[in-house]
Amino acid sequence: MEWDSLKKLLIEKIGNETFSTWIEPSKIKMVGNKLVIKVPNSSFAKVIYSRFFDDLVNVCKKEVLIEIDEKISRDILENGENSRNKKAGSRKSRYGYPLNPLYNFSTFVVGEGNQLAHAFAIAVSKNPGKDRRLNPLYIYGGVGLGKTHLIQAIGHEAVSKNLRVIYIPAEEFVNNVVQSIRLNKMDEMRKSFRQETDLLLVDDIQHIAGKEKTQEEFFHIFNALYLTDKQVVFTSQVPPKKISGLTEQLSSRFEGGVMVDVKPPDFETRIAILKKKAEIDGIDLPDEVAIFIASQKTSNVRELEGFLNKVISFSRFFGAPLNIETAKKVIGSHKRDIKGDLSPAEVIKFVARHYGLRVREIKSKSNAKIIAFPRQVAMYLLKKILGMSYVDIGKLFNNKHHSTVMHAVEKIEKLRHEDSEFDRTLDKMIAHLVS
Ligand code: ADP
Ligand code: MG
Repeated sequence: MEWDSLKKLLIEKIGNETFSTWIEPSKIKMVGNKLVIKVPNSSFAKVIYSRFFDDLVNVCKKEVLIEIDEKISRDILENGENSRNKKAGSRKSRYGYPLNPLYNFSTFVVGEGNQLAHAFAIAVSKNPGKDRRLNPLYIYGGVGLGKTHLIQAIGHEAVSKNLRVIYIPAEEFVNNVVQSIRLNKMDEMRKSFRQETDLLLVDDIQHIAGKEKTQEEFFHIFNALYLTDKQVVFTSQVPPKKISGLTEQLSSRFEGGVMVDVKPPDFETRIAILKKKAEIDGIDLPDEVAIFIASQKTSNVRELEGFLNKVISFSRFFGAPLNIETAKKVIGSHKRDIKGDLSPAEVIKFVARHYGLRVREIKSKSNAKIIAFPRQVAMYLLKKILGMSYVDIGKLFNNKHHSTVMHAVEKIEKLRHEDSEFDRTLDKMIAHLVS
């Protein structure tokens, strides 16, 4: 397939923004039958692997290899106003990360625990930087309570006002500082942050703890922005005082605007959030299912969403009705996952035993059909039940290549369609594993 047509398919799958941010700066070529993607640094590799590697493989139908190429990273830093962004016609700084299109104000459910944070976020997004009392805005609270969603919603508002926005996870800021120092490009980095930004959004600022040099750089960038009435927003898991190894000067800067916390959502809000999420997926979630999921012992919204997704995909995949029985069945198994009961190892062991093999055999390099076939079944179940990535599944089987895993999953899927007896056998195996 030509790269041009591949590109089109890929953009359809992962979206234009993701494509231009993560793929466009890379060099892509075919080597033999492999697609080799050379990326500028490990952050790119990490994001590609974690966010859309499987999509990439699915679209290309090829083996995909990701390599890090320092030369590209030098080019990017040397070309000043990043060449990739110029190409894409975007005003974004090269340091910014893409905003998740789903994290906007219209998809955010306001409830008791977050209404203050939400109100401040709205106020800031109306007039970023104009009210010094709101600068910086520091939103803190536990994991999975909507901080990233809120900070990105501010970003979307500002982008729609044509402001220049940098959204960056603090960890990446740290990486960028380290790399810029190494490549002697700190001046450019400072300049980019100070001069090309109207709104700076730093997510999970607690990761700056203990990194002295980074804190110093950040302090100067922050001051420059503040003094020119540019807005800065932080999220953090903890208030500034609780960030260990935070310099006094930064700590007092963080506290100089508004600090607001987000608390876990109450029951009603949890239900409203679940309904909203389902609605975004075009699903009318029955009340009983929403209530059942919202009653689970967690206040972490990400985890609730995980339950919901699991119930929805289970019902889609196995054609089960979207009702409380299905939810019970699936979430029952989810609880087991969390406790670590249903682990990949357990799935493999179960499949091996089913076919009268030893775990050692099913994981071996042997391609004998009596071993290879059960291995493919195991790979399929790991993908479908635990939702693991092709790469991670490959690692469990003597480092099998992800394309091999993908073929296995496709093959078993096809076989299920063709052979109804095999289909029933697999249903039984799945039922045994998840219930
Ligand atoms: P945090 O950054 O606080 O760890 P996130 O912003 O990543 O949490 O939220 C985790 C998930 O929960 C996201 O998918 C987010 O959309 C969702 N979420 C959290 N709170 C809300 C809310 N009030 N309304 C809608 N979705 C929410
Ligand atoms: Mg977050």
